[in-house]
Amino acid sequence: MNPTSRIHLHPQGPDFSRIAFGCWRLAQWALATQELRALVESVLDLGITTFDHADIYGDYRCEQLFGEMLATAPALRARMQLVSKCDIRLVSQRRPQNTRHVYDTTVAHIRASAEHSLRVLHTDHLDLLLLHRPDPLMDADEAAGALDALVASGKVRHVGVSNFTPAQVELLAARLKAPLVTNQLELSPLNLSPFLDGTLDQCQRLRMAPMAWSPLAGGRLAAGGDERAARVRAALAKVAGETGAASPEQVAYAWLLRHPARILPVTGSGRIGRVREAAGALGLALTREQWFDVWCASTGTPLP
Ligand code: NAP
Repeated sequence: MNPTSRIHLHPQGPDFSRIAFGCWRLAQWALATQELRALVESVLDLGITTFDHADIYGDYRCEQLFGEMLATAPALRARMQLVSKCDIRLVSQRRPQNTRHVYDTTVAHIRASAEHSLRVLHTDHLDLLLLHRPDPLMDADEAAGALDALVASGKVRHVGVSNFTPAQVELLAARLKAPLVTNQLELSPLNLSPFLDGTLDQCQRLRMAPMAWSPLAGGRLAAGGDERAARVRAALAKVAGETGAASPEQVAYAWLLRHPARILPVTGSGRIGRVREAAGALGLALTREQWFDVWCASTGTPLP
């Protein structure tokens, strides 16, 4: 396997594929178990071995569908890294105890959610568990204790966060024994906030590679009708022409990969051709000039 296709999220691990496969939309794809297995095998064959889940995806269905597939092909587990998330509680027929949509970083919820993910995924450990969204009621001692206990038990190998501000990362990190190995962020040429608000600076400082969710802005970058999306698409297309990239979307992945914080894009497409294009971005090197062309197309203004 090409060595550039792997990454240590943090000096203390884990070792992940440079691009991850997102499972948020998996239930929408309505695949039979054998079709899902074929898709996952094709993704693994591309060198993409990291699968991003959350307890809540697909109204609490995605992990279960993925786990049912793994139960039919248990040897696949050793070829992949599994990421899950907890702390959002959704109102759902599958969770009658949830009477409101809330965030929950209590020890009881974190433990129960992680153990449920393990059960339905048919695995004995998660490679990474993230707190999904910052909980304004988070007691950092309690949340850190819950995460450290999961690591100590071997049920979770590493822990991280998602959508956290730098101050929230500092707080939790100060109470944890285990290092936070990632902050999973909404990040794309159409979402520049983490570049500007100190979040990516902190990732670089802590040597904690960020994961980028919605790297194509949920499809808006490819098909969005708004002016900003059209401007960015034109800039990506220009760079695609200059570099011989397969598509503007492939350049969007390369644009994220070019950043020194070592951004790890999480693809969201269920179409293997589009996932292959994402993997192909690993072979594209943008110049500084090309990178800034996309940046300025997104901000809509020349650099000061
Ligand atoms: P994305 O790659 O930005 O968007 C995927 C969507 O774009 C799919 O609906 C896909 O449709 C569409 N698309 C891709 N290429 C296209 C093209 N050329 N033309 C038209 N449509 C195109 O990623 P995402 O699904 O929003 O997010 C990726 C992953 O991030 C999720 O699966 C999840 O694991 C993670 N995530 C995390 C958080 C968090 O809070 N931590 C939040 C959201 C998501 P097709 O399937 O038809 O290709």
